[in-house]
Amino acid sequence: MALRLHNTLTGTLEVLEPLEPDHLRIYSCGPTVYDRAHIGNFRTFVWEDLLRRYLKLRGYRVTQVMNLTDVDDRTINAAIEQGKTLDEITRPVEQQFFEDWKALGLEPMEHYPRATEHVDAMIELVQRLADRGLTYDRDGSVYFAIGRYPEYGRLVGLDACDLGSSGRAEGDEEYSKEDPRDFVLWKGGDREEGDVALWDSPWGPGRPGWHLECSAMSMQYLGESFDIHTGGVDNIFPHHTNEMAQSEGATGRSFARYWLHAEHLLVDGGKMSKSVGNYHTIPDLLERGHRPSAIRYLLLSAHYRTQLNFTLGGLVKADRALERLEEFQRRLRSAHALEPATASPAEPSASPGVEPARASIGELARRAHEAFISAMDDDLSVSDAIASVFTMVREVNRELDRVGDRLTAGDAESALSLLRDFDAVFGVLSLRGAERGDADPALAAWMDERIAARQVAREARDFASADAIRREIEERGIVIEDTPDGTRWKPVGEAVFGG
Ligand code: AMP
Ligand code: ZN
Repeated sequence: MALRLHNTLTGTLEVLEPLEPDHLRIYSCGPTVYDRAHIGNFRTFVWEDLLRRYLKLRGYRVTQVMNLTDVDDRTINAAIEQGKTLDEITRPVEQQFFEDWKALGLEPMEHYPRATEHVDAMIELVQRLADRGLTYDRDGSVYFAIGRYPEYGRLVGLDACDLGSSGRAEGDEEYSKEDPRDFVLWKGGDREEGDVALWDSPWGPGRPGWHLECSAMSMQYLGESFDIHTGGVDNIFPHHTNEMAQSEGATGRSFARYWLHAEHLLVDGGKMSKSVGNYHTIPDLLERGHRPSAIRYLLLSAHYRTQLNFTLGGLVKADRALERLEEFQRRLRSAHALEPATASPAEPSASPGVEPARASIGELARRAHEAFISAMDDDLSVSDAIASVFTMVREVNRELDRVGDRLTAGDAESALSLLRDFDAVFGVLSLRGAERGDADPALAAWMDERIAARQVAREARDFASADAIRREIEERGIVIEDTPDGTRWKPVGEAVFGG
């Protein structure tokens, strides 16, 4: 089945077709670095990480860009209020952002451009729009003239005439516009702002408008046309609507092909936001003793197009669910070692009265795996995907209870392989390993797979392959030992198999 995603531009589920074969270029609107991001922002960021990871699991190469908005009204106001430079405000917040990013196990993206380092590209874009007659200058500022661009508003499915003001009113700017719907591309510097943010331009000193920043940076890193643009639903209008108008207005080409938007995280039924003051940050929750893996899992546990109400009780439940998955993983790893290494998978159990579990466990796991992939293919339907994993856990546990924890390495591998794919996308089991200070999760996943393959080879009496796998493992600087509890491993040099 093909992967389908909900495109805000068309309001429908569409099959994902990359512009370049096997390569997806994604732009994700990043944080405004005037204050530490809250977990509402991180709901969107973690979902963007889930999207990235799933696309990679489906075999795509991904180039993903997230901007850092380090000049806009909010950063400038913070600098003015606190008597600091823009950098003094934004750089520490950027650092906090990356700390939280790492704590929640988000993969690094390919580029994190700062707006302040791309002002030349922004000026050039305004120039292109001016050359096409889509702008006008007023008191040192440059505006996008919506009335001269009939395609405006395609993303929201509204006629330009139906729209109200397309930008946040900034000071006396409302009075300078030809049309209240117009938005600022380049904002002429006033005396107070000029102390913290001022660049030269053909229209005099000033600074870029917020929407312009994302247009310039996305096209610089991904090209004039790219595949996917993401953000929270609050970005649809005016931010993404204006981005699209600026980019397509300047290039005459289609900008992003698929627009994906995540719904908000709520607290007590209301939007979590700085201005309301009803927000938590990642360090707040860690201080209360919650684990990053539980936060990540809770944020990912609802479909991205539904609102998610955040509660501390939800975090406790998320933690319990992950504990169950870990227990299951441990059970599988130790159970398959109980099978005699020389048994053939086709042989029935030697013990009278105990039925072999082999075929049914492998089959259960494979069915669940298929259900997992088809749920994720269906617009990232995480609830169904998670349900398929827990169905497998329940059914396989029941089967293991019945047969006394015996199964072949091949069956264990079928179940472990679903857990591996689940974790490649959800990134929560590996995060728990990291929380405990376990080995590198990528190495642990590789070892799981190699140990299972070796066990399969041994059960089939293919000792040449089993030995080759052992050598392959040892070449990575890892020693293994077969114990009654299963095969254990450690990097050479670490205290081995103590206790
Ligand atoms: P900002 O730093 O305000 O520019 O927001 C960064 C990202 O977080 C954007 O994609 C927003 O849409 C998203 N966002 C803001 N508030 C929330 C929320 N309560 N829930 C989910 N996403 C949010
Ligand atoms: Zn943006």
